[in-house]
Amino acid sequence: GQGDAWGIIRPNKGYGRKKDKVARVILRVTVELKRVVFEPEALNYPLGRKLYQRFHEERVEVLMTPSHNRVTCIPGKTARESFLEAKRTLVVGVRRSRDFQTCKPSAHYQLPLVTSCPAMCEYCYLFTHFGRKPYQRIYVNIAEILALARDYINRRDPEVTYFEASATSDPLPVEKYTGSLAAAIEFMARQPLGRLRVATKFTDVEGLLNLDHRGHTRFRFSINAENIIKRFEHGTPPLGQRLAAAAQMAGGGYLTGFIIAPIFYLEGWQQQYRHLFQVIARQPLLAESNDLTLELITHRFTKRAKTSIESLFPNTKLPLDEEERTFRYGQFGYGKYVYPAEVRKAMEAFFKEMVATYLPRAKVEYFI
Ligand code: SF4
Repeated sequence: GQGDAWGIIRPNKGYGRKKDKVARVILRVTVELKRVVFEPEALNYPLGRKLYQRFHEERVEVLMTPSHNRVTCIPGKTARESFLEAKRTLVVGVRRSRDFQTCKPSAHYQLPLVTSCPAMCEYCYLFTHFGRKPYQRIYVNIAEILALARDYINRRDPEVTYFEASATSDPLPVEKYTGSLAAAIEFMARQPLGRLRVATKFTDVEGLLNLDHRGHTRFRFSINAENIIKRFEHGTPPLGQRLAAAAQMAGGGYLTGFIIAPIFYLEGWQQQYRHLFQVIARQPLLAESNDLTLELITHRFTKRAKTSIESLFPNTKLPLDEEERTFRYGQFGYGKYVYPAEVRKAMEAFFKEMVATYLPRAKVEYFI
C-alpha cells in the first residue's frame, strides 16, 4: 500500500477472491419484511389505517404494541439474532415529542420521519445509537411533524433553517410505504425559509423525480470505494446504481451531492478512491453541475461502537485497532478513535487533489 510509511495498513489477505458468505446471507435477509408492529394510536391516522390494511393483504405478520419505544415481540436468542430480526421488523407509530434534535454539522435540526434502515453496514453508527432498538420505525402523523418544522422555521426567521431527514435513518427504503419524504420535499418547497437535506445509499428515486421541490431539497448519495461497499455495506445497492440515481435526481433539478464516508485508510486506498472519482466524473450531469457538494468523513469509532460491532459481526474486517488511532474527546463526554493527524492530513491532501482533478466544479462542504 502507498501509506505503509505510517505502518498502520493491514493487508487484507484473500480480499476479492473469497466470496463473503456472511455478506450474502445478510443480503438475503434484508430484502423481505417479516413483521409489522403497530401502535394502536397509529390507526387514528389515515396512513396508519392504510398500512394496516396493506400489510394484512400482503400477508405480512401484523402485531400490536403499546408504544413504539417498547417493542418486545422481536425474537432472537443472541444479540446478533435479535439484530437480524429487528432489521426485518417495521414499527408503525405516532411521534409525540414536540422537540426536534439539533443536527451538526449538516443542518440545524433533524426532521424525524423515520428511524433506522433495513441495510447492515458494519460500521453504521446507529448500532450504538439505538442499542437494542435497531428496528425501523415510521411515523404516521407526518402533517403534525411538518407543522412543528414550520414552528422551528418561524423561530429562526429571517434566517434560513435547514433540516436533515437522514440523521437517524435512511428514509428511502420505507418511502414506498409512507410517502413521507415526498410530503416533506413538497412542504419545504412552500417554505421560503425552509430547506431539506436528505442522505441515502438507496436508489428508488422515481417517485421523487417529478415533485415540485423548487430547489429547496438537497439529495446526497452516500458512496464509497467499490471494495468498501462490497465488504461492509450489506444489503445496499451497488455503486453504479447509486450514481445513476444521483444523475437522475440532478436531471430532475434537485440540488445533488455526495457523502463519501467513512473513508478508510486501508491498503490501496488511493487507487480505490481515485477510481471512485473517475467513475463520478464520467456522469456529465454530476461532473458538470455547478452545484455539486461533497461531504468527506474519515472513519472513526467509539469504544462502545467497537463492542457492538464485534458482537454483531464477529468476523468483521473493519479496522478497529485502537493502537492505530488517536483518541479524541468528543463534545458529549465520550471519546472517539480517529486516524492520527499525519494520516488525516495525507488523506485530506489526496482528496483535495481528486476534487481538483476530477470534479473541479464541486464544493467540499467539510472534510472531517
Ligand atoms: Fe446505517 Fe446508513 Fe448503512 Fe442503513 S444504509 S445500515 S443507516 S450506514
